[in-house]
Amino acid sequence: MIIILKHGATEDDIASVEEKLQEHGYQPNVTRGVEDVIVAAIGTPSLSEKEMVAPQLQALEAVEKVLFVSKSYKLVSRESHPADTSFKVGVANGAANGAGVEIGGAKICVMAGPCSVEGREQLMTTAKAVNQAGATVLRGGAYKPRTSPYDFQGMGLEGLQLLAEARAATGMPVITEVMTPGLVEQVCEHADVLQIGARNMQNYDLLREVGRCRTPVMLKRGLSATVEEWLKAAEYILAGGNNNVMFCERGIRTYEPSTRFTLDLSAVPAIKKASHLPIIIDPSQGTGRRDMVAAMSKAAVACGADGLIIEVHPHPEALSDGQQTLDTTQFAQLMRDLKPIAQAVGRTL
Ligand code: PEP
Ligand code: MN
Repeated sequence: MIIILKHGATEDDIASVEEKLQEHGYQPNVTRGVEDVIVAAIGTPSLSEKEMVAPQLQALEAVEKVLFVSKSYKLVSRESHPADTSFKVGVANGAANGAGVEIGGAKICVMAGPCSVEGREQLMTTAKAVNQAGATVLRGGAYKPRTSPYDFQGMGLEGLQLLAEARAATGMPVITEVMTPGLVEQVCEHADVLQIGARNMQNYDLLREVGRCRTPVMLKRGLSATVEEWLKAAEYILAGGNNNVMFCERGIRTYEPSTRFTLDLSAVPAIKKASHLPIIIDPSQGTGRRDMVAAMSKAAVACGADGLIIEVHPHPEALSDGQQTLDTTQFAQLMRDLKPIAQAVGRTL
């Protein structure tokens, strides 16, 4: 159940809705938008409780309407929040001179950097180059989910510390993956956005844990997940109270062997229809091929994606994912080529 409050609803009005819901066994989740306040009722009280509480809520002066959302994802659904959601990342850590970087706004957000943090020199050189080319968020894996246990597994805490150093040097907020619930607190201390990797999209303990913190989250699509399963995974995070979630399409497993994965760009309009949350495209993991990254980036911007996350390295024969990584010159050229496409769809870059 979703309760939409009238314009100008006060904190007392919100509290009375919350109280009423709690009386009937619901956990209220309040979203304060620029104009509207929406309260979602989380929980599964009995049918009779439901029938009792709805008219009582409707009778409250401050309540505009009570909606029954039948889907198993509610907070994520566009029904619960018709306008697009946008939010800022990096404000708490003083990124972009304290202004942060907006995700889901008119400006397309380009996140770029190495697949893995390999050392100070590599990270700083990449960070400065992508920043100069116009990227606004720095990516870099410290804890890496590698397909083989014998591959480089990431620098861990030292990698996180280097990312924080790179933020201080460039002003760019940083995004990095967290793989286990026990490390969420540590990653939150250093990063501006938590990346939930494709292999963990349905790690519900991890989703619950990132739902409890207030650091924005990028939820990657599982290797074989449907759009509906992905939406429900995001619901776990919002249900925990963390509303700053963006989706990331990174390719799905199909029978086609010419690319590492099949980048499903139709997920962009599908997510836009079903949800109010932003969506980012990862053409690097999505194709596994450097020669396809530029074309798929352009297509992603054209079809309405809110951002891109691209692997860039000064020497792409990197310790991880080198075959899909752009060098800094190729990345700068791509940024120039994306500008007119962004403009054509009413966005900036
Ligand atoms: C990555 O971004 O380097 C990565 C491992 O992503 P994914 O979880 O999409 O494979
Ligand atoms: Mn990678």
